Amino acid sequence: MKVLKFGGTSVGSAARIKEVAKLVTERGKNIIVLSAMSGTTNTLVEISDYLHKRNVDGAKEIVNQLENKYRNVIDELFASDEYREAARKEIKAIFNYIRSLSTDKFSYFEEREILAQGELISTNLLNLYLHEQSVDSVLLSALEFMRTDNNGEPDSSYIRSRLHAQLEKHSDAAIYLTQGYICRNAFGEVDNLQRGGSDYTASLIGAAIGAEEIEIWTDIDGMHNNDPRYVEGTSPVSELHFDEAAELAYFGAKILHPTCVLPAKLNNIPVRLLNTMQPDAKGTLIYNCPSSHTIKAVAAKDNITAIKIKSGRMLLAYGFLRKVFEIFESYQTSIDMITTSEVGVSVTIDNTRNLHLILDDLKKFGTVTVDHDMAIICVVGDLEWHNTGFETKTLKAMDTIPVRMISYGGSNYNISMLVRQSDKINALNALQKALFND
Ligand code: ADP
Ligand code: ASP
Ligand code: MG
Repeated sequence: MKVLKFGGTSVGSAARIKEVAKLVTERGKNIIVLSAMSGTTNTLVEISDYLHKRNVDGAKEIVNQLENKYRNVIDELFASDEYREAARKEIKAIFNYIRSLSTDKFSYFEEREILAQGELISTNLLNLYLHEQSVDSVLLSALEFMRTDNNGEPDSSYIRSRLHAQLEKHSDAAIYLTQGYICRNAFGEVDNLQRGGSDYTASLIGAAIGAEEIEIWTDIDGMHNNDPRYVEGTSPVSELHFDEAAELAYFGAKILHPTCVLPAKLNNIPVRLLNTMQPDAKGTLIYNCPSSHTIKAVAAKDNITAIKIKSGRMLLAYGFLRKVFEIFESYQTSIDMITTSEVGVSVTIDNTRNLHLILDDLKKFGTVTVDHDMAIICVVGDLEWHNTGFETKTLKAMDTIPVRMISYGGSNYNISMLVRQSDKINALNALQKALFND
C-alpha cells in the first residue's frame, strides 16, 4: 500500500477534487492524505486573529464568506440532489461548530479547533464525491490515530497501533482517506503539525504502515534545481538522496515540509514528488540513491538573523563555545549556521523571539553585533570533500554579491552562504546560471 498526499492547490476547486478522485480511484487501495483547499487554512488563521482581538463580528463575517465559498464548491462538485444535500448538511455542521467557537472567550484551545476544520471539510467532500461515483472509500479521522507526545513529537507507537486497528476495522475499503496536518496533543486536545504539516502526516503514516512509497502530489513536477518563484528556467531533479532532500526542505524548498524526510528515511521508504496537473510527469524520487558527484539544487531561507560574538582569544579559551551555545539552548533557540575564527564566532538563528535576552547574555562574553534581514543560500548535492571544484564554482558565481558567512563540510551535502535578503534573488539567479545553465 502507498500513501498519496494531495496539497491545497491539488484540491483547490471542485474541478480539481474531481481530478484527484479520478487519480486515486485508478491507483487502487492506498491511504490518501488531504490538505485543506488552498486558502482555507489562511482564512481560518484570519478568523482566529479577529477572535484573539475580540472582534467577534469581524470573525463571523469571514466565516460567512468562507461558508459561501464552500456552498459554491458543493453545487459544482455533486451531480445528484442526494449527495449535494448530504454535503450541505456536513458543511453546515462544521460551520456552525466554527461559529460556536467564535466568542469573546476565544483562546488558543479554540484556535486549534478552528484551524483543524479545513482538512475536515476537504476530506468530507472528497469522501462523499467518491461515494457518489460508487467508490467504497472510507474516511479515517486523523484525530483517532495521529497524536503528539509531551514534547510535541509524534507518538509513533500510538500512531502505528491506532492506525492499524482502523485499517483492520475497515479492511473492505476500496480507498482510505484521512486528514493531513491535524492531530491530538498529549492532553487529547485537537492540535496540528504546524503549517504545511500535511507532508509530515503522509510521512508518519507511511512509516507507521511500512508503505511501499509515499507520494506527495502538488502543483509542480517535482523538486526543481532552484526556487521557481524567483528563478526562470529551473528544471526538475529526477533523484535525490534523503539527506539532500532534507537539506533542501530545511533551507527553503517549499515543495517539501522539512519534517517530512526523517520518518521516510528512517524506514527507508521512497518519497516521490508528483504533479497533480501533469500526472504522467516523472517528478522526483527521494531515496537512498547512489552517489552522483554532482550539485543537484539550490534553495534559500529568509528571515535569518546573524550574531557575531568577538572575544580576545576564543579558540585557545576552551569552554568559550560551550558557554555561547548554552545561552541559545537556555532560550530554546536553535542555530542554523556557524563559522568560527580565533577572535570570534558567528551564528545564525531564524527564531528571534528571545533575541534581546540572548544578546544581553552574550554580551557577558564578548562584543556582540547583529545583522538582520539575511538569507541563507544553500547549494545541495553529493559534495563529498574529495570531489574538487564544487566550492570554487559556487563561490565564483557569487563574485559580485557580498557574502557574510560561508559554511562547508558540516555534511557531505551542502554549501551554505549567508547574504542580505535583498540580494537573495540575484544570488539564486547567479547560481542557476553558473551551476546549471552554463
Ligand atoms: P502544497 O500546497 O501542494 O503542499 P506547496 O505550495 O507547499 O504545495 O509547495 C509547492 C510549491 O513549492 C511550488 O508551487 C513552488 O512554487 C514551491 N517551491 C519552492 N521551491 C521549490 C523547488 N525547489 N522545487 C519545486 N517547487 C518549489
Ligand atoms: N492546510 C495546512 C496549511 O495550509 C496544512 C498543509 O496544507 O499542509 O498549512
Ligand atoms: Mg506544502
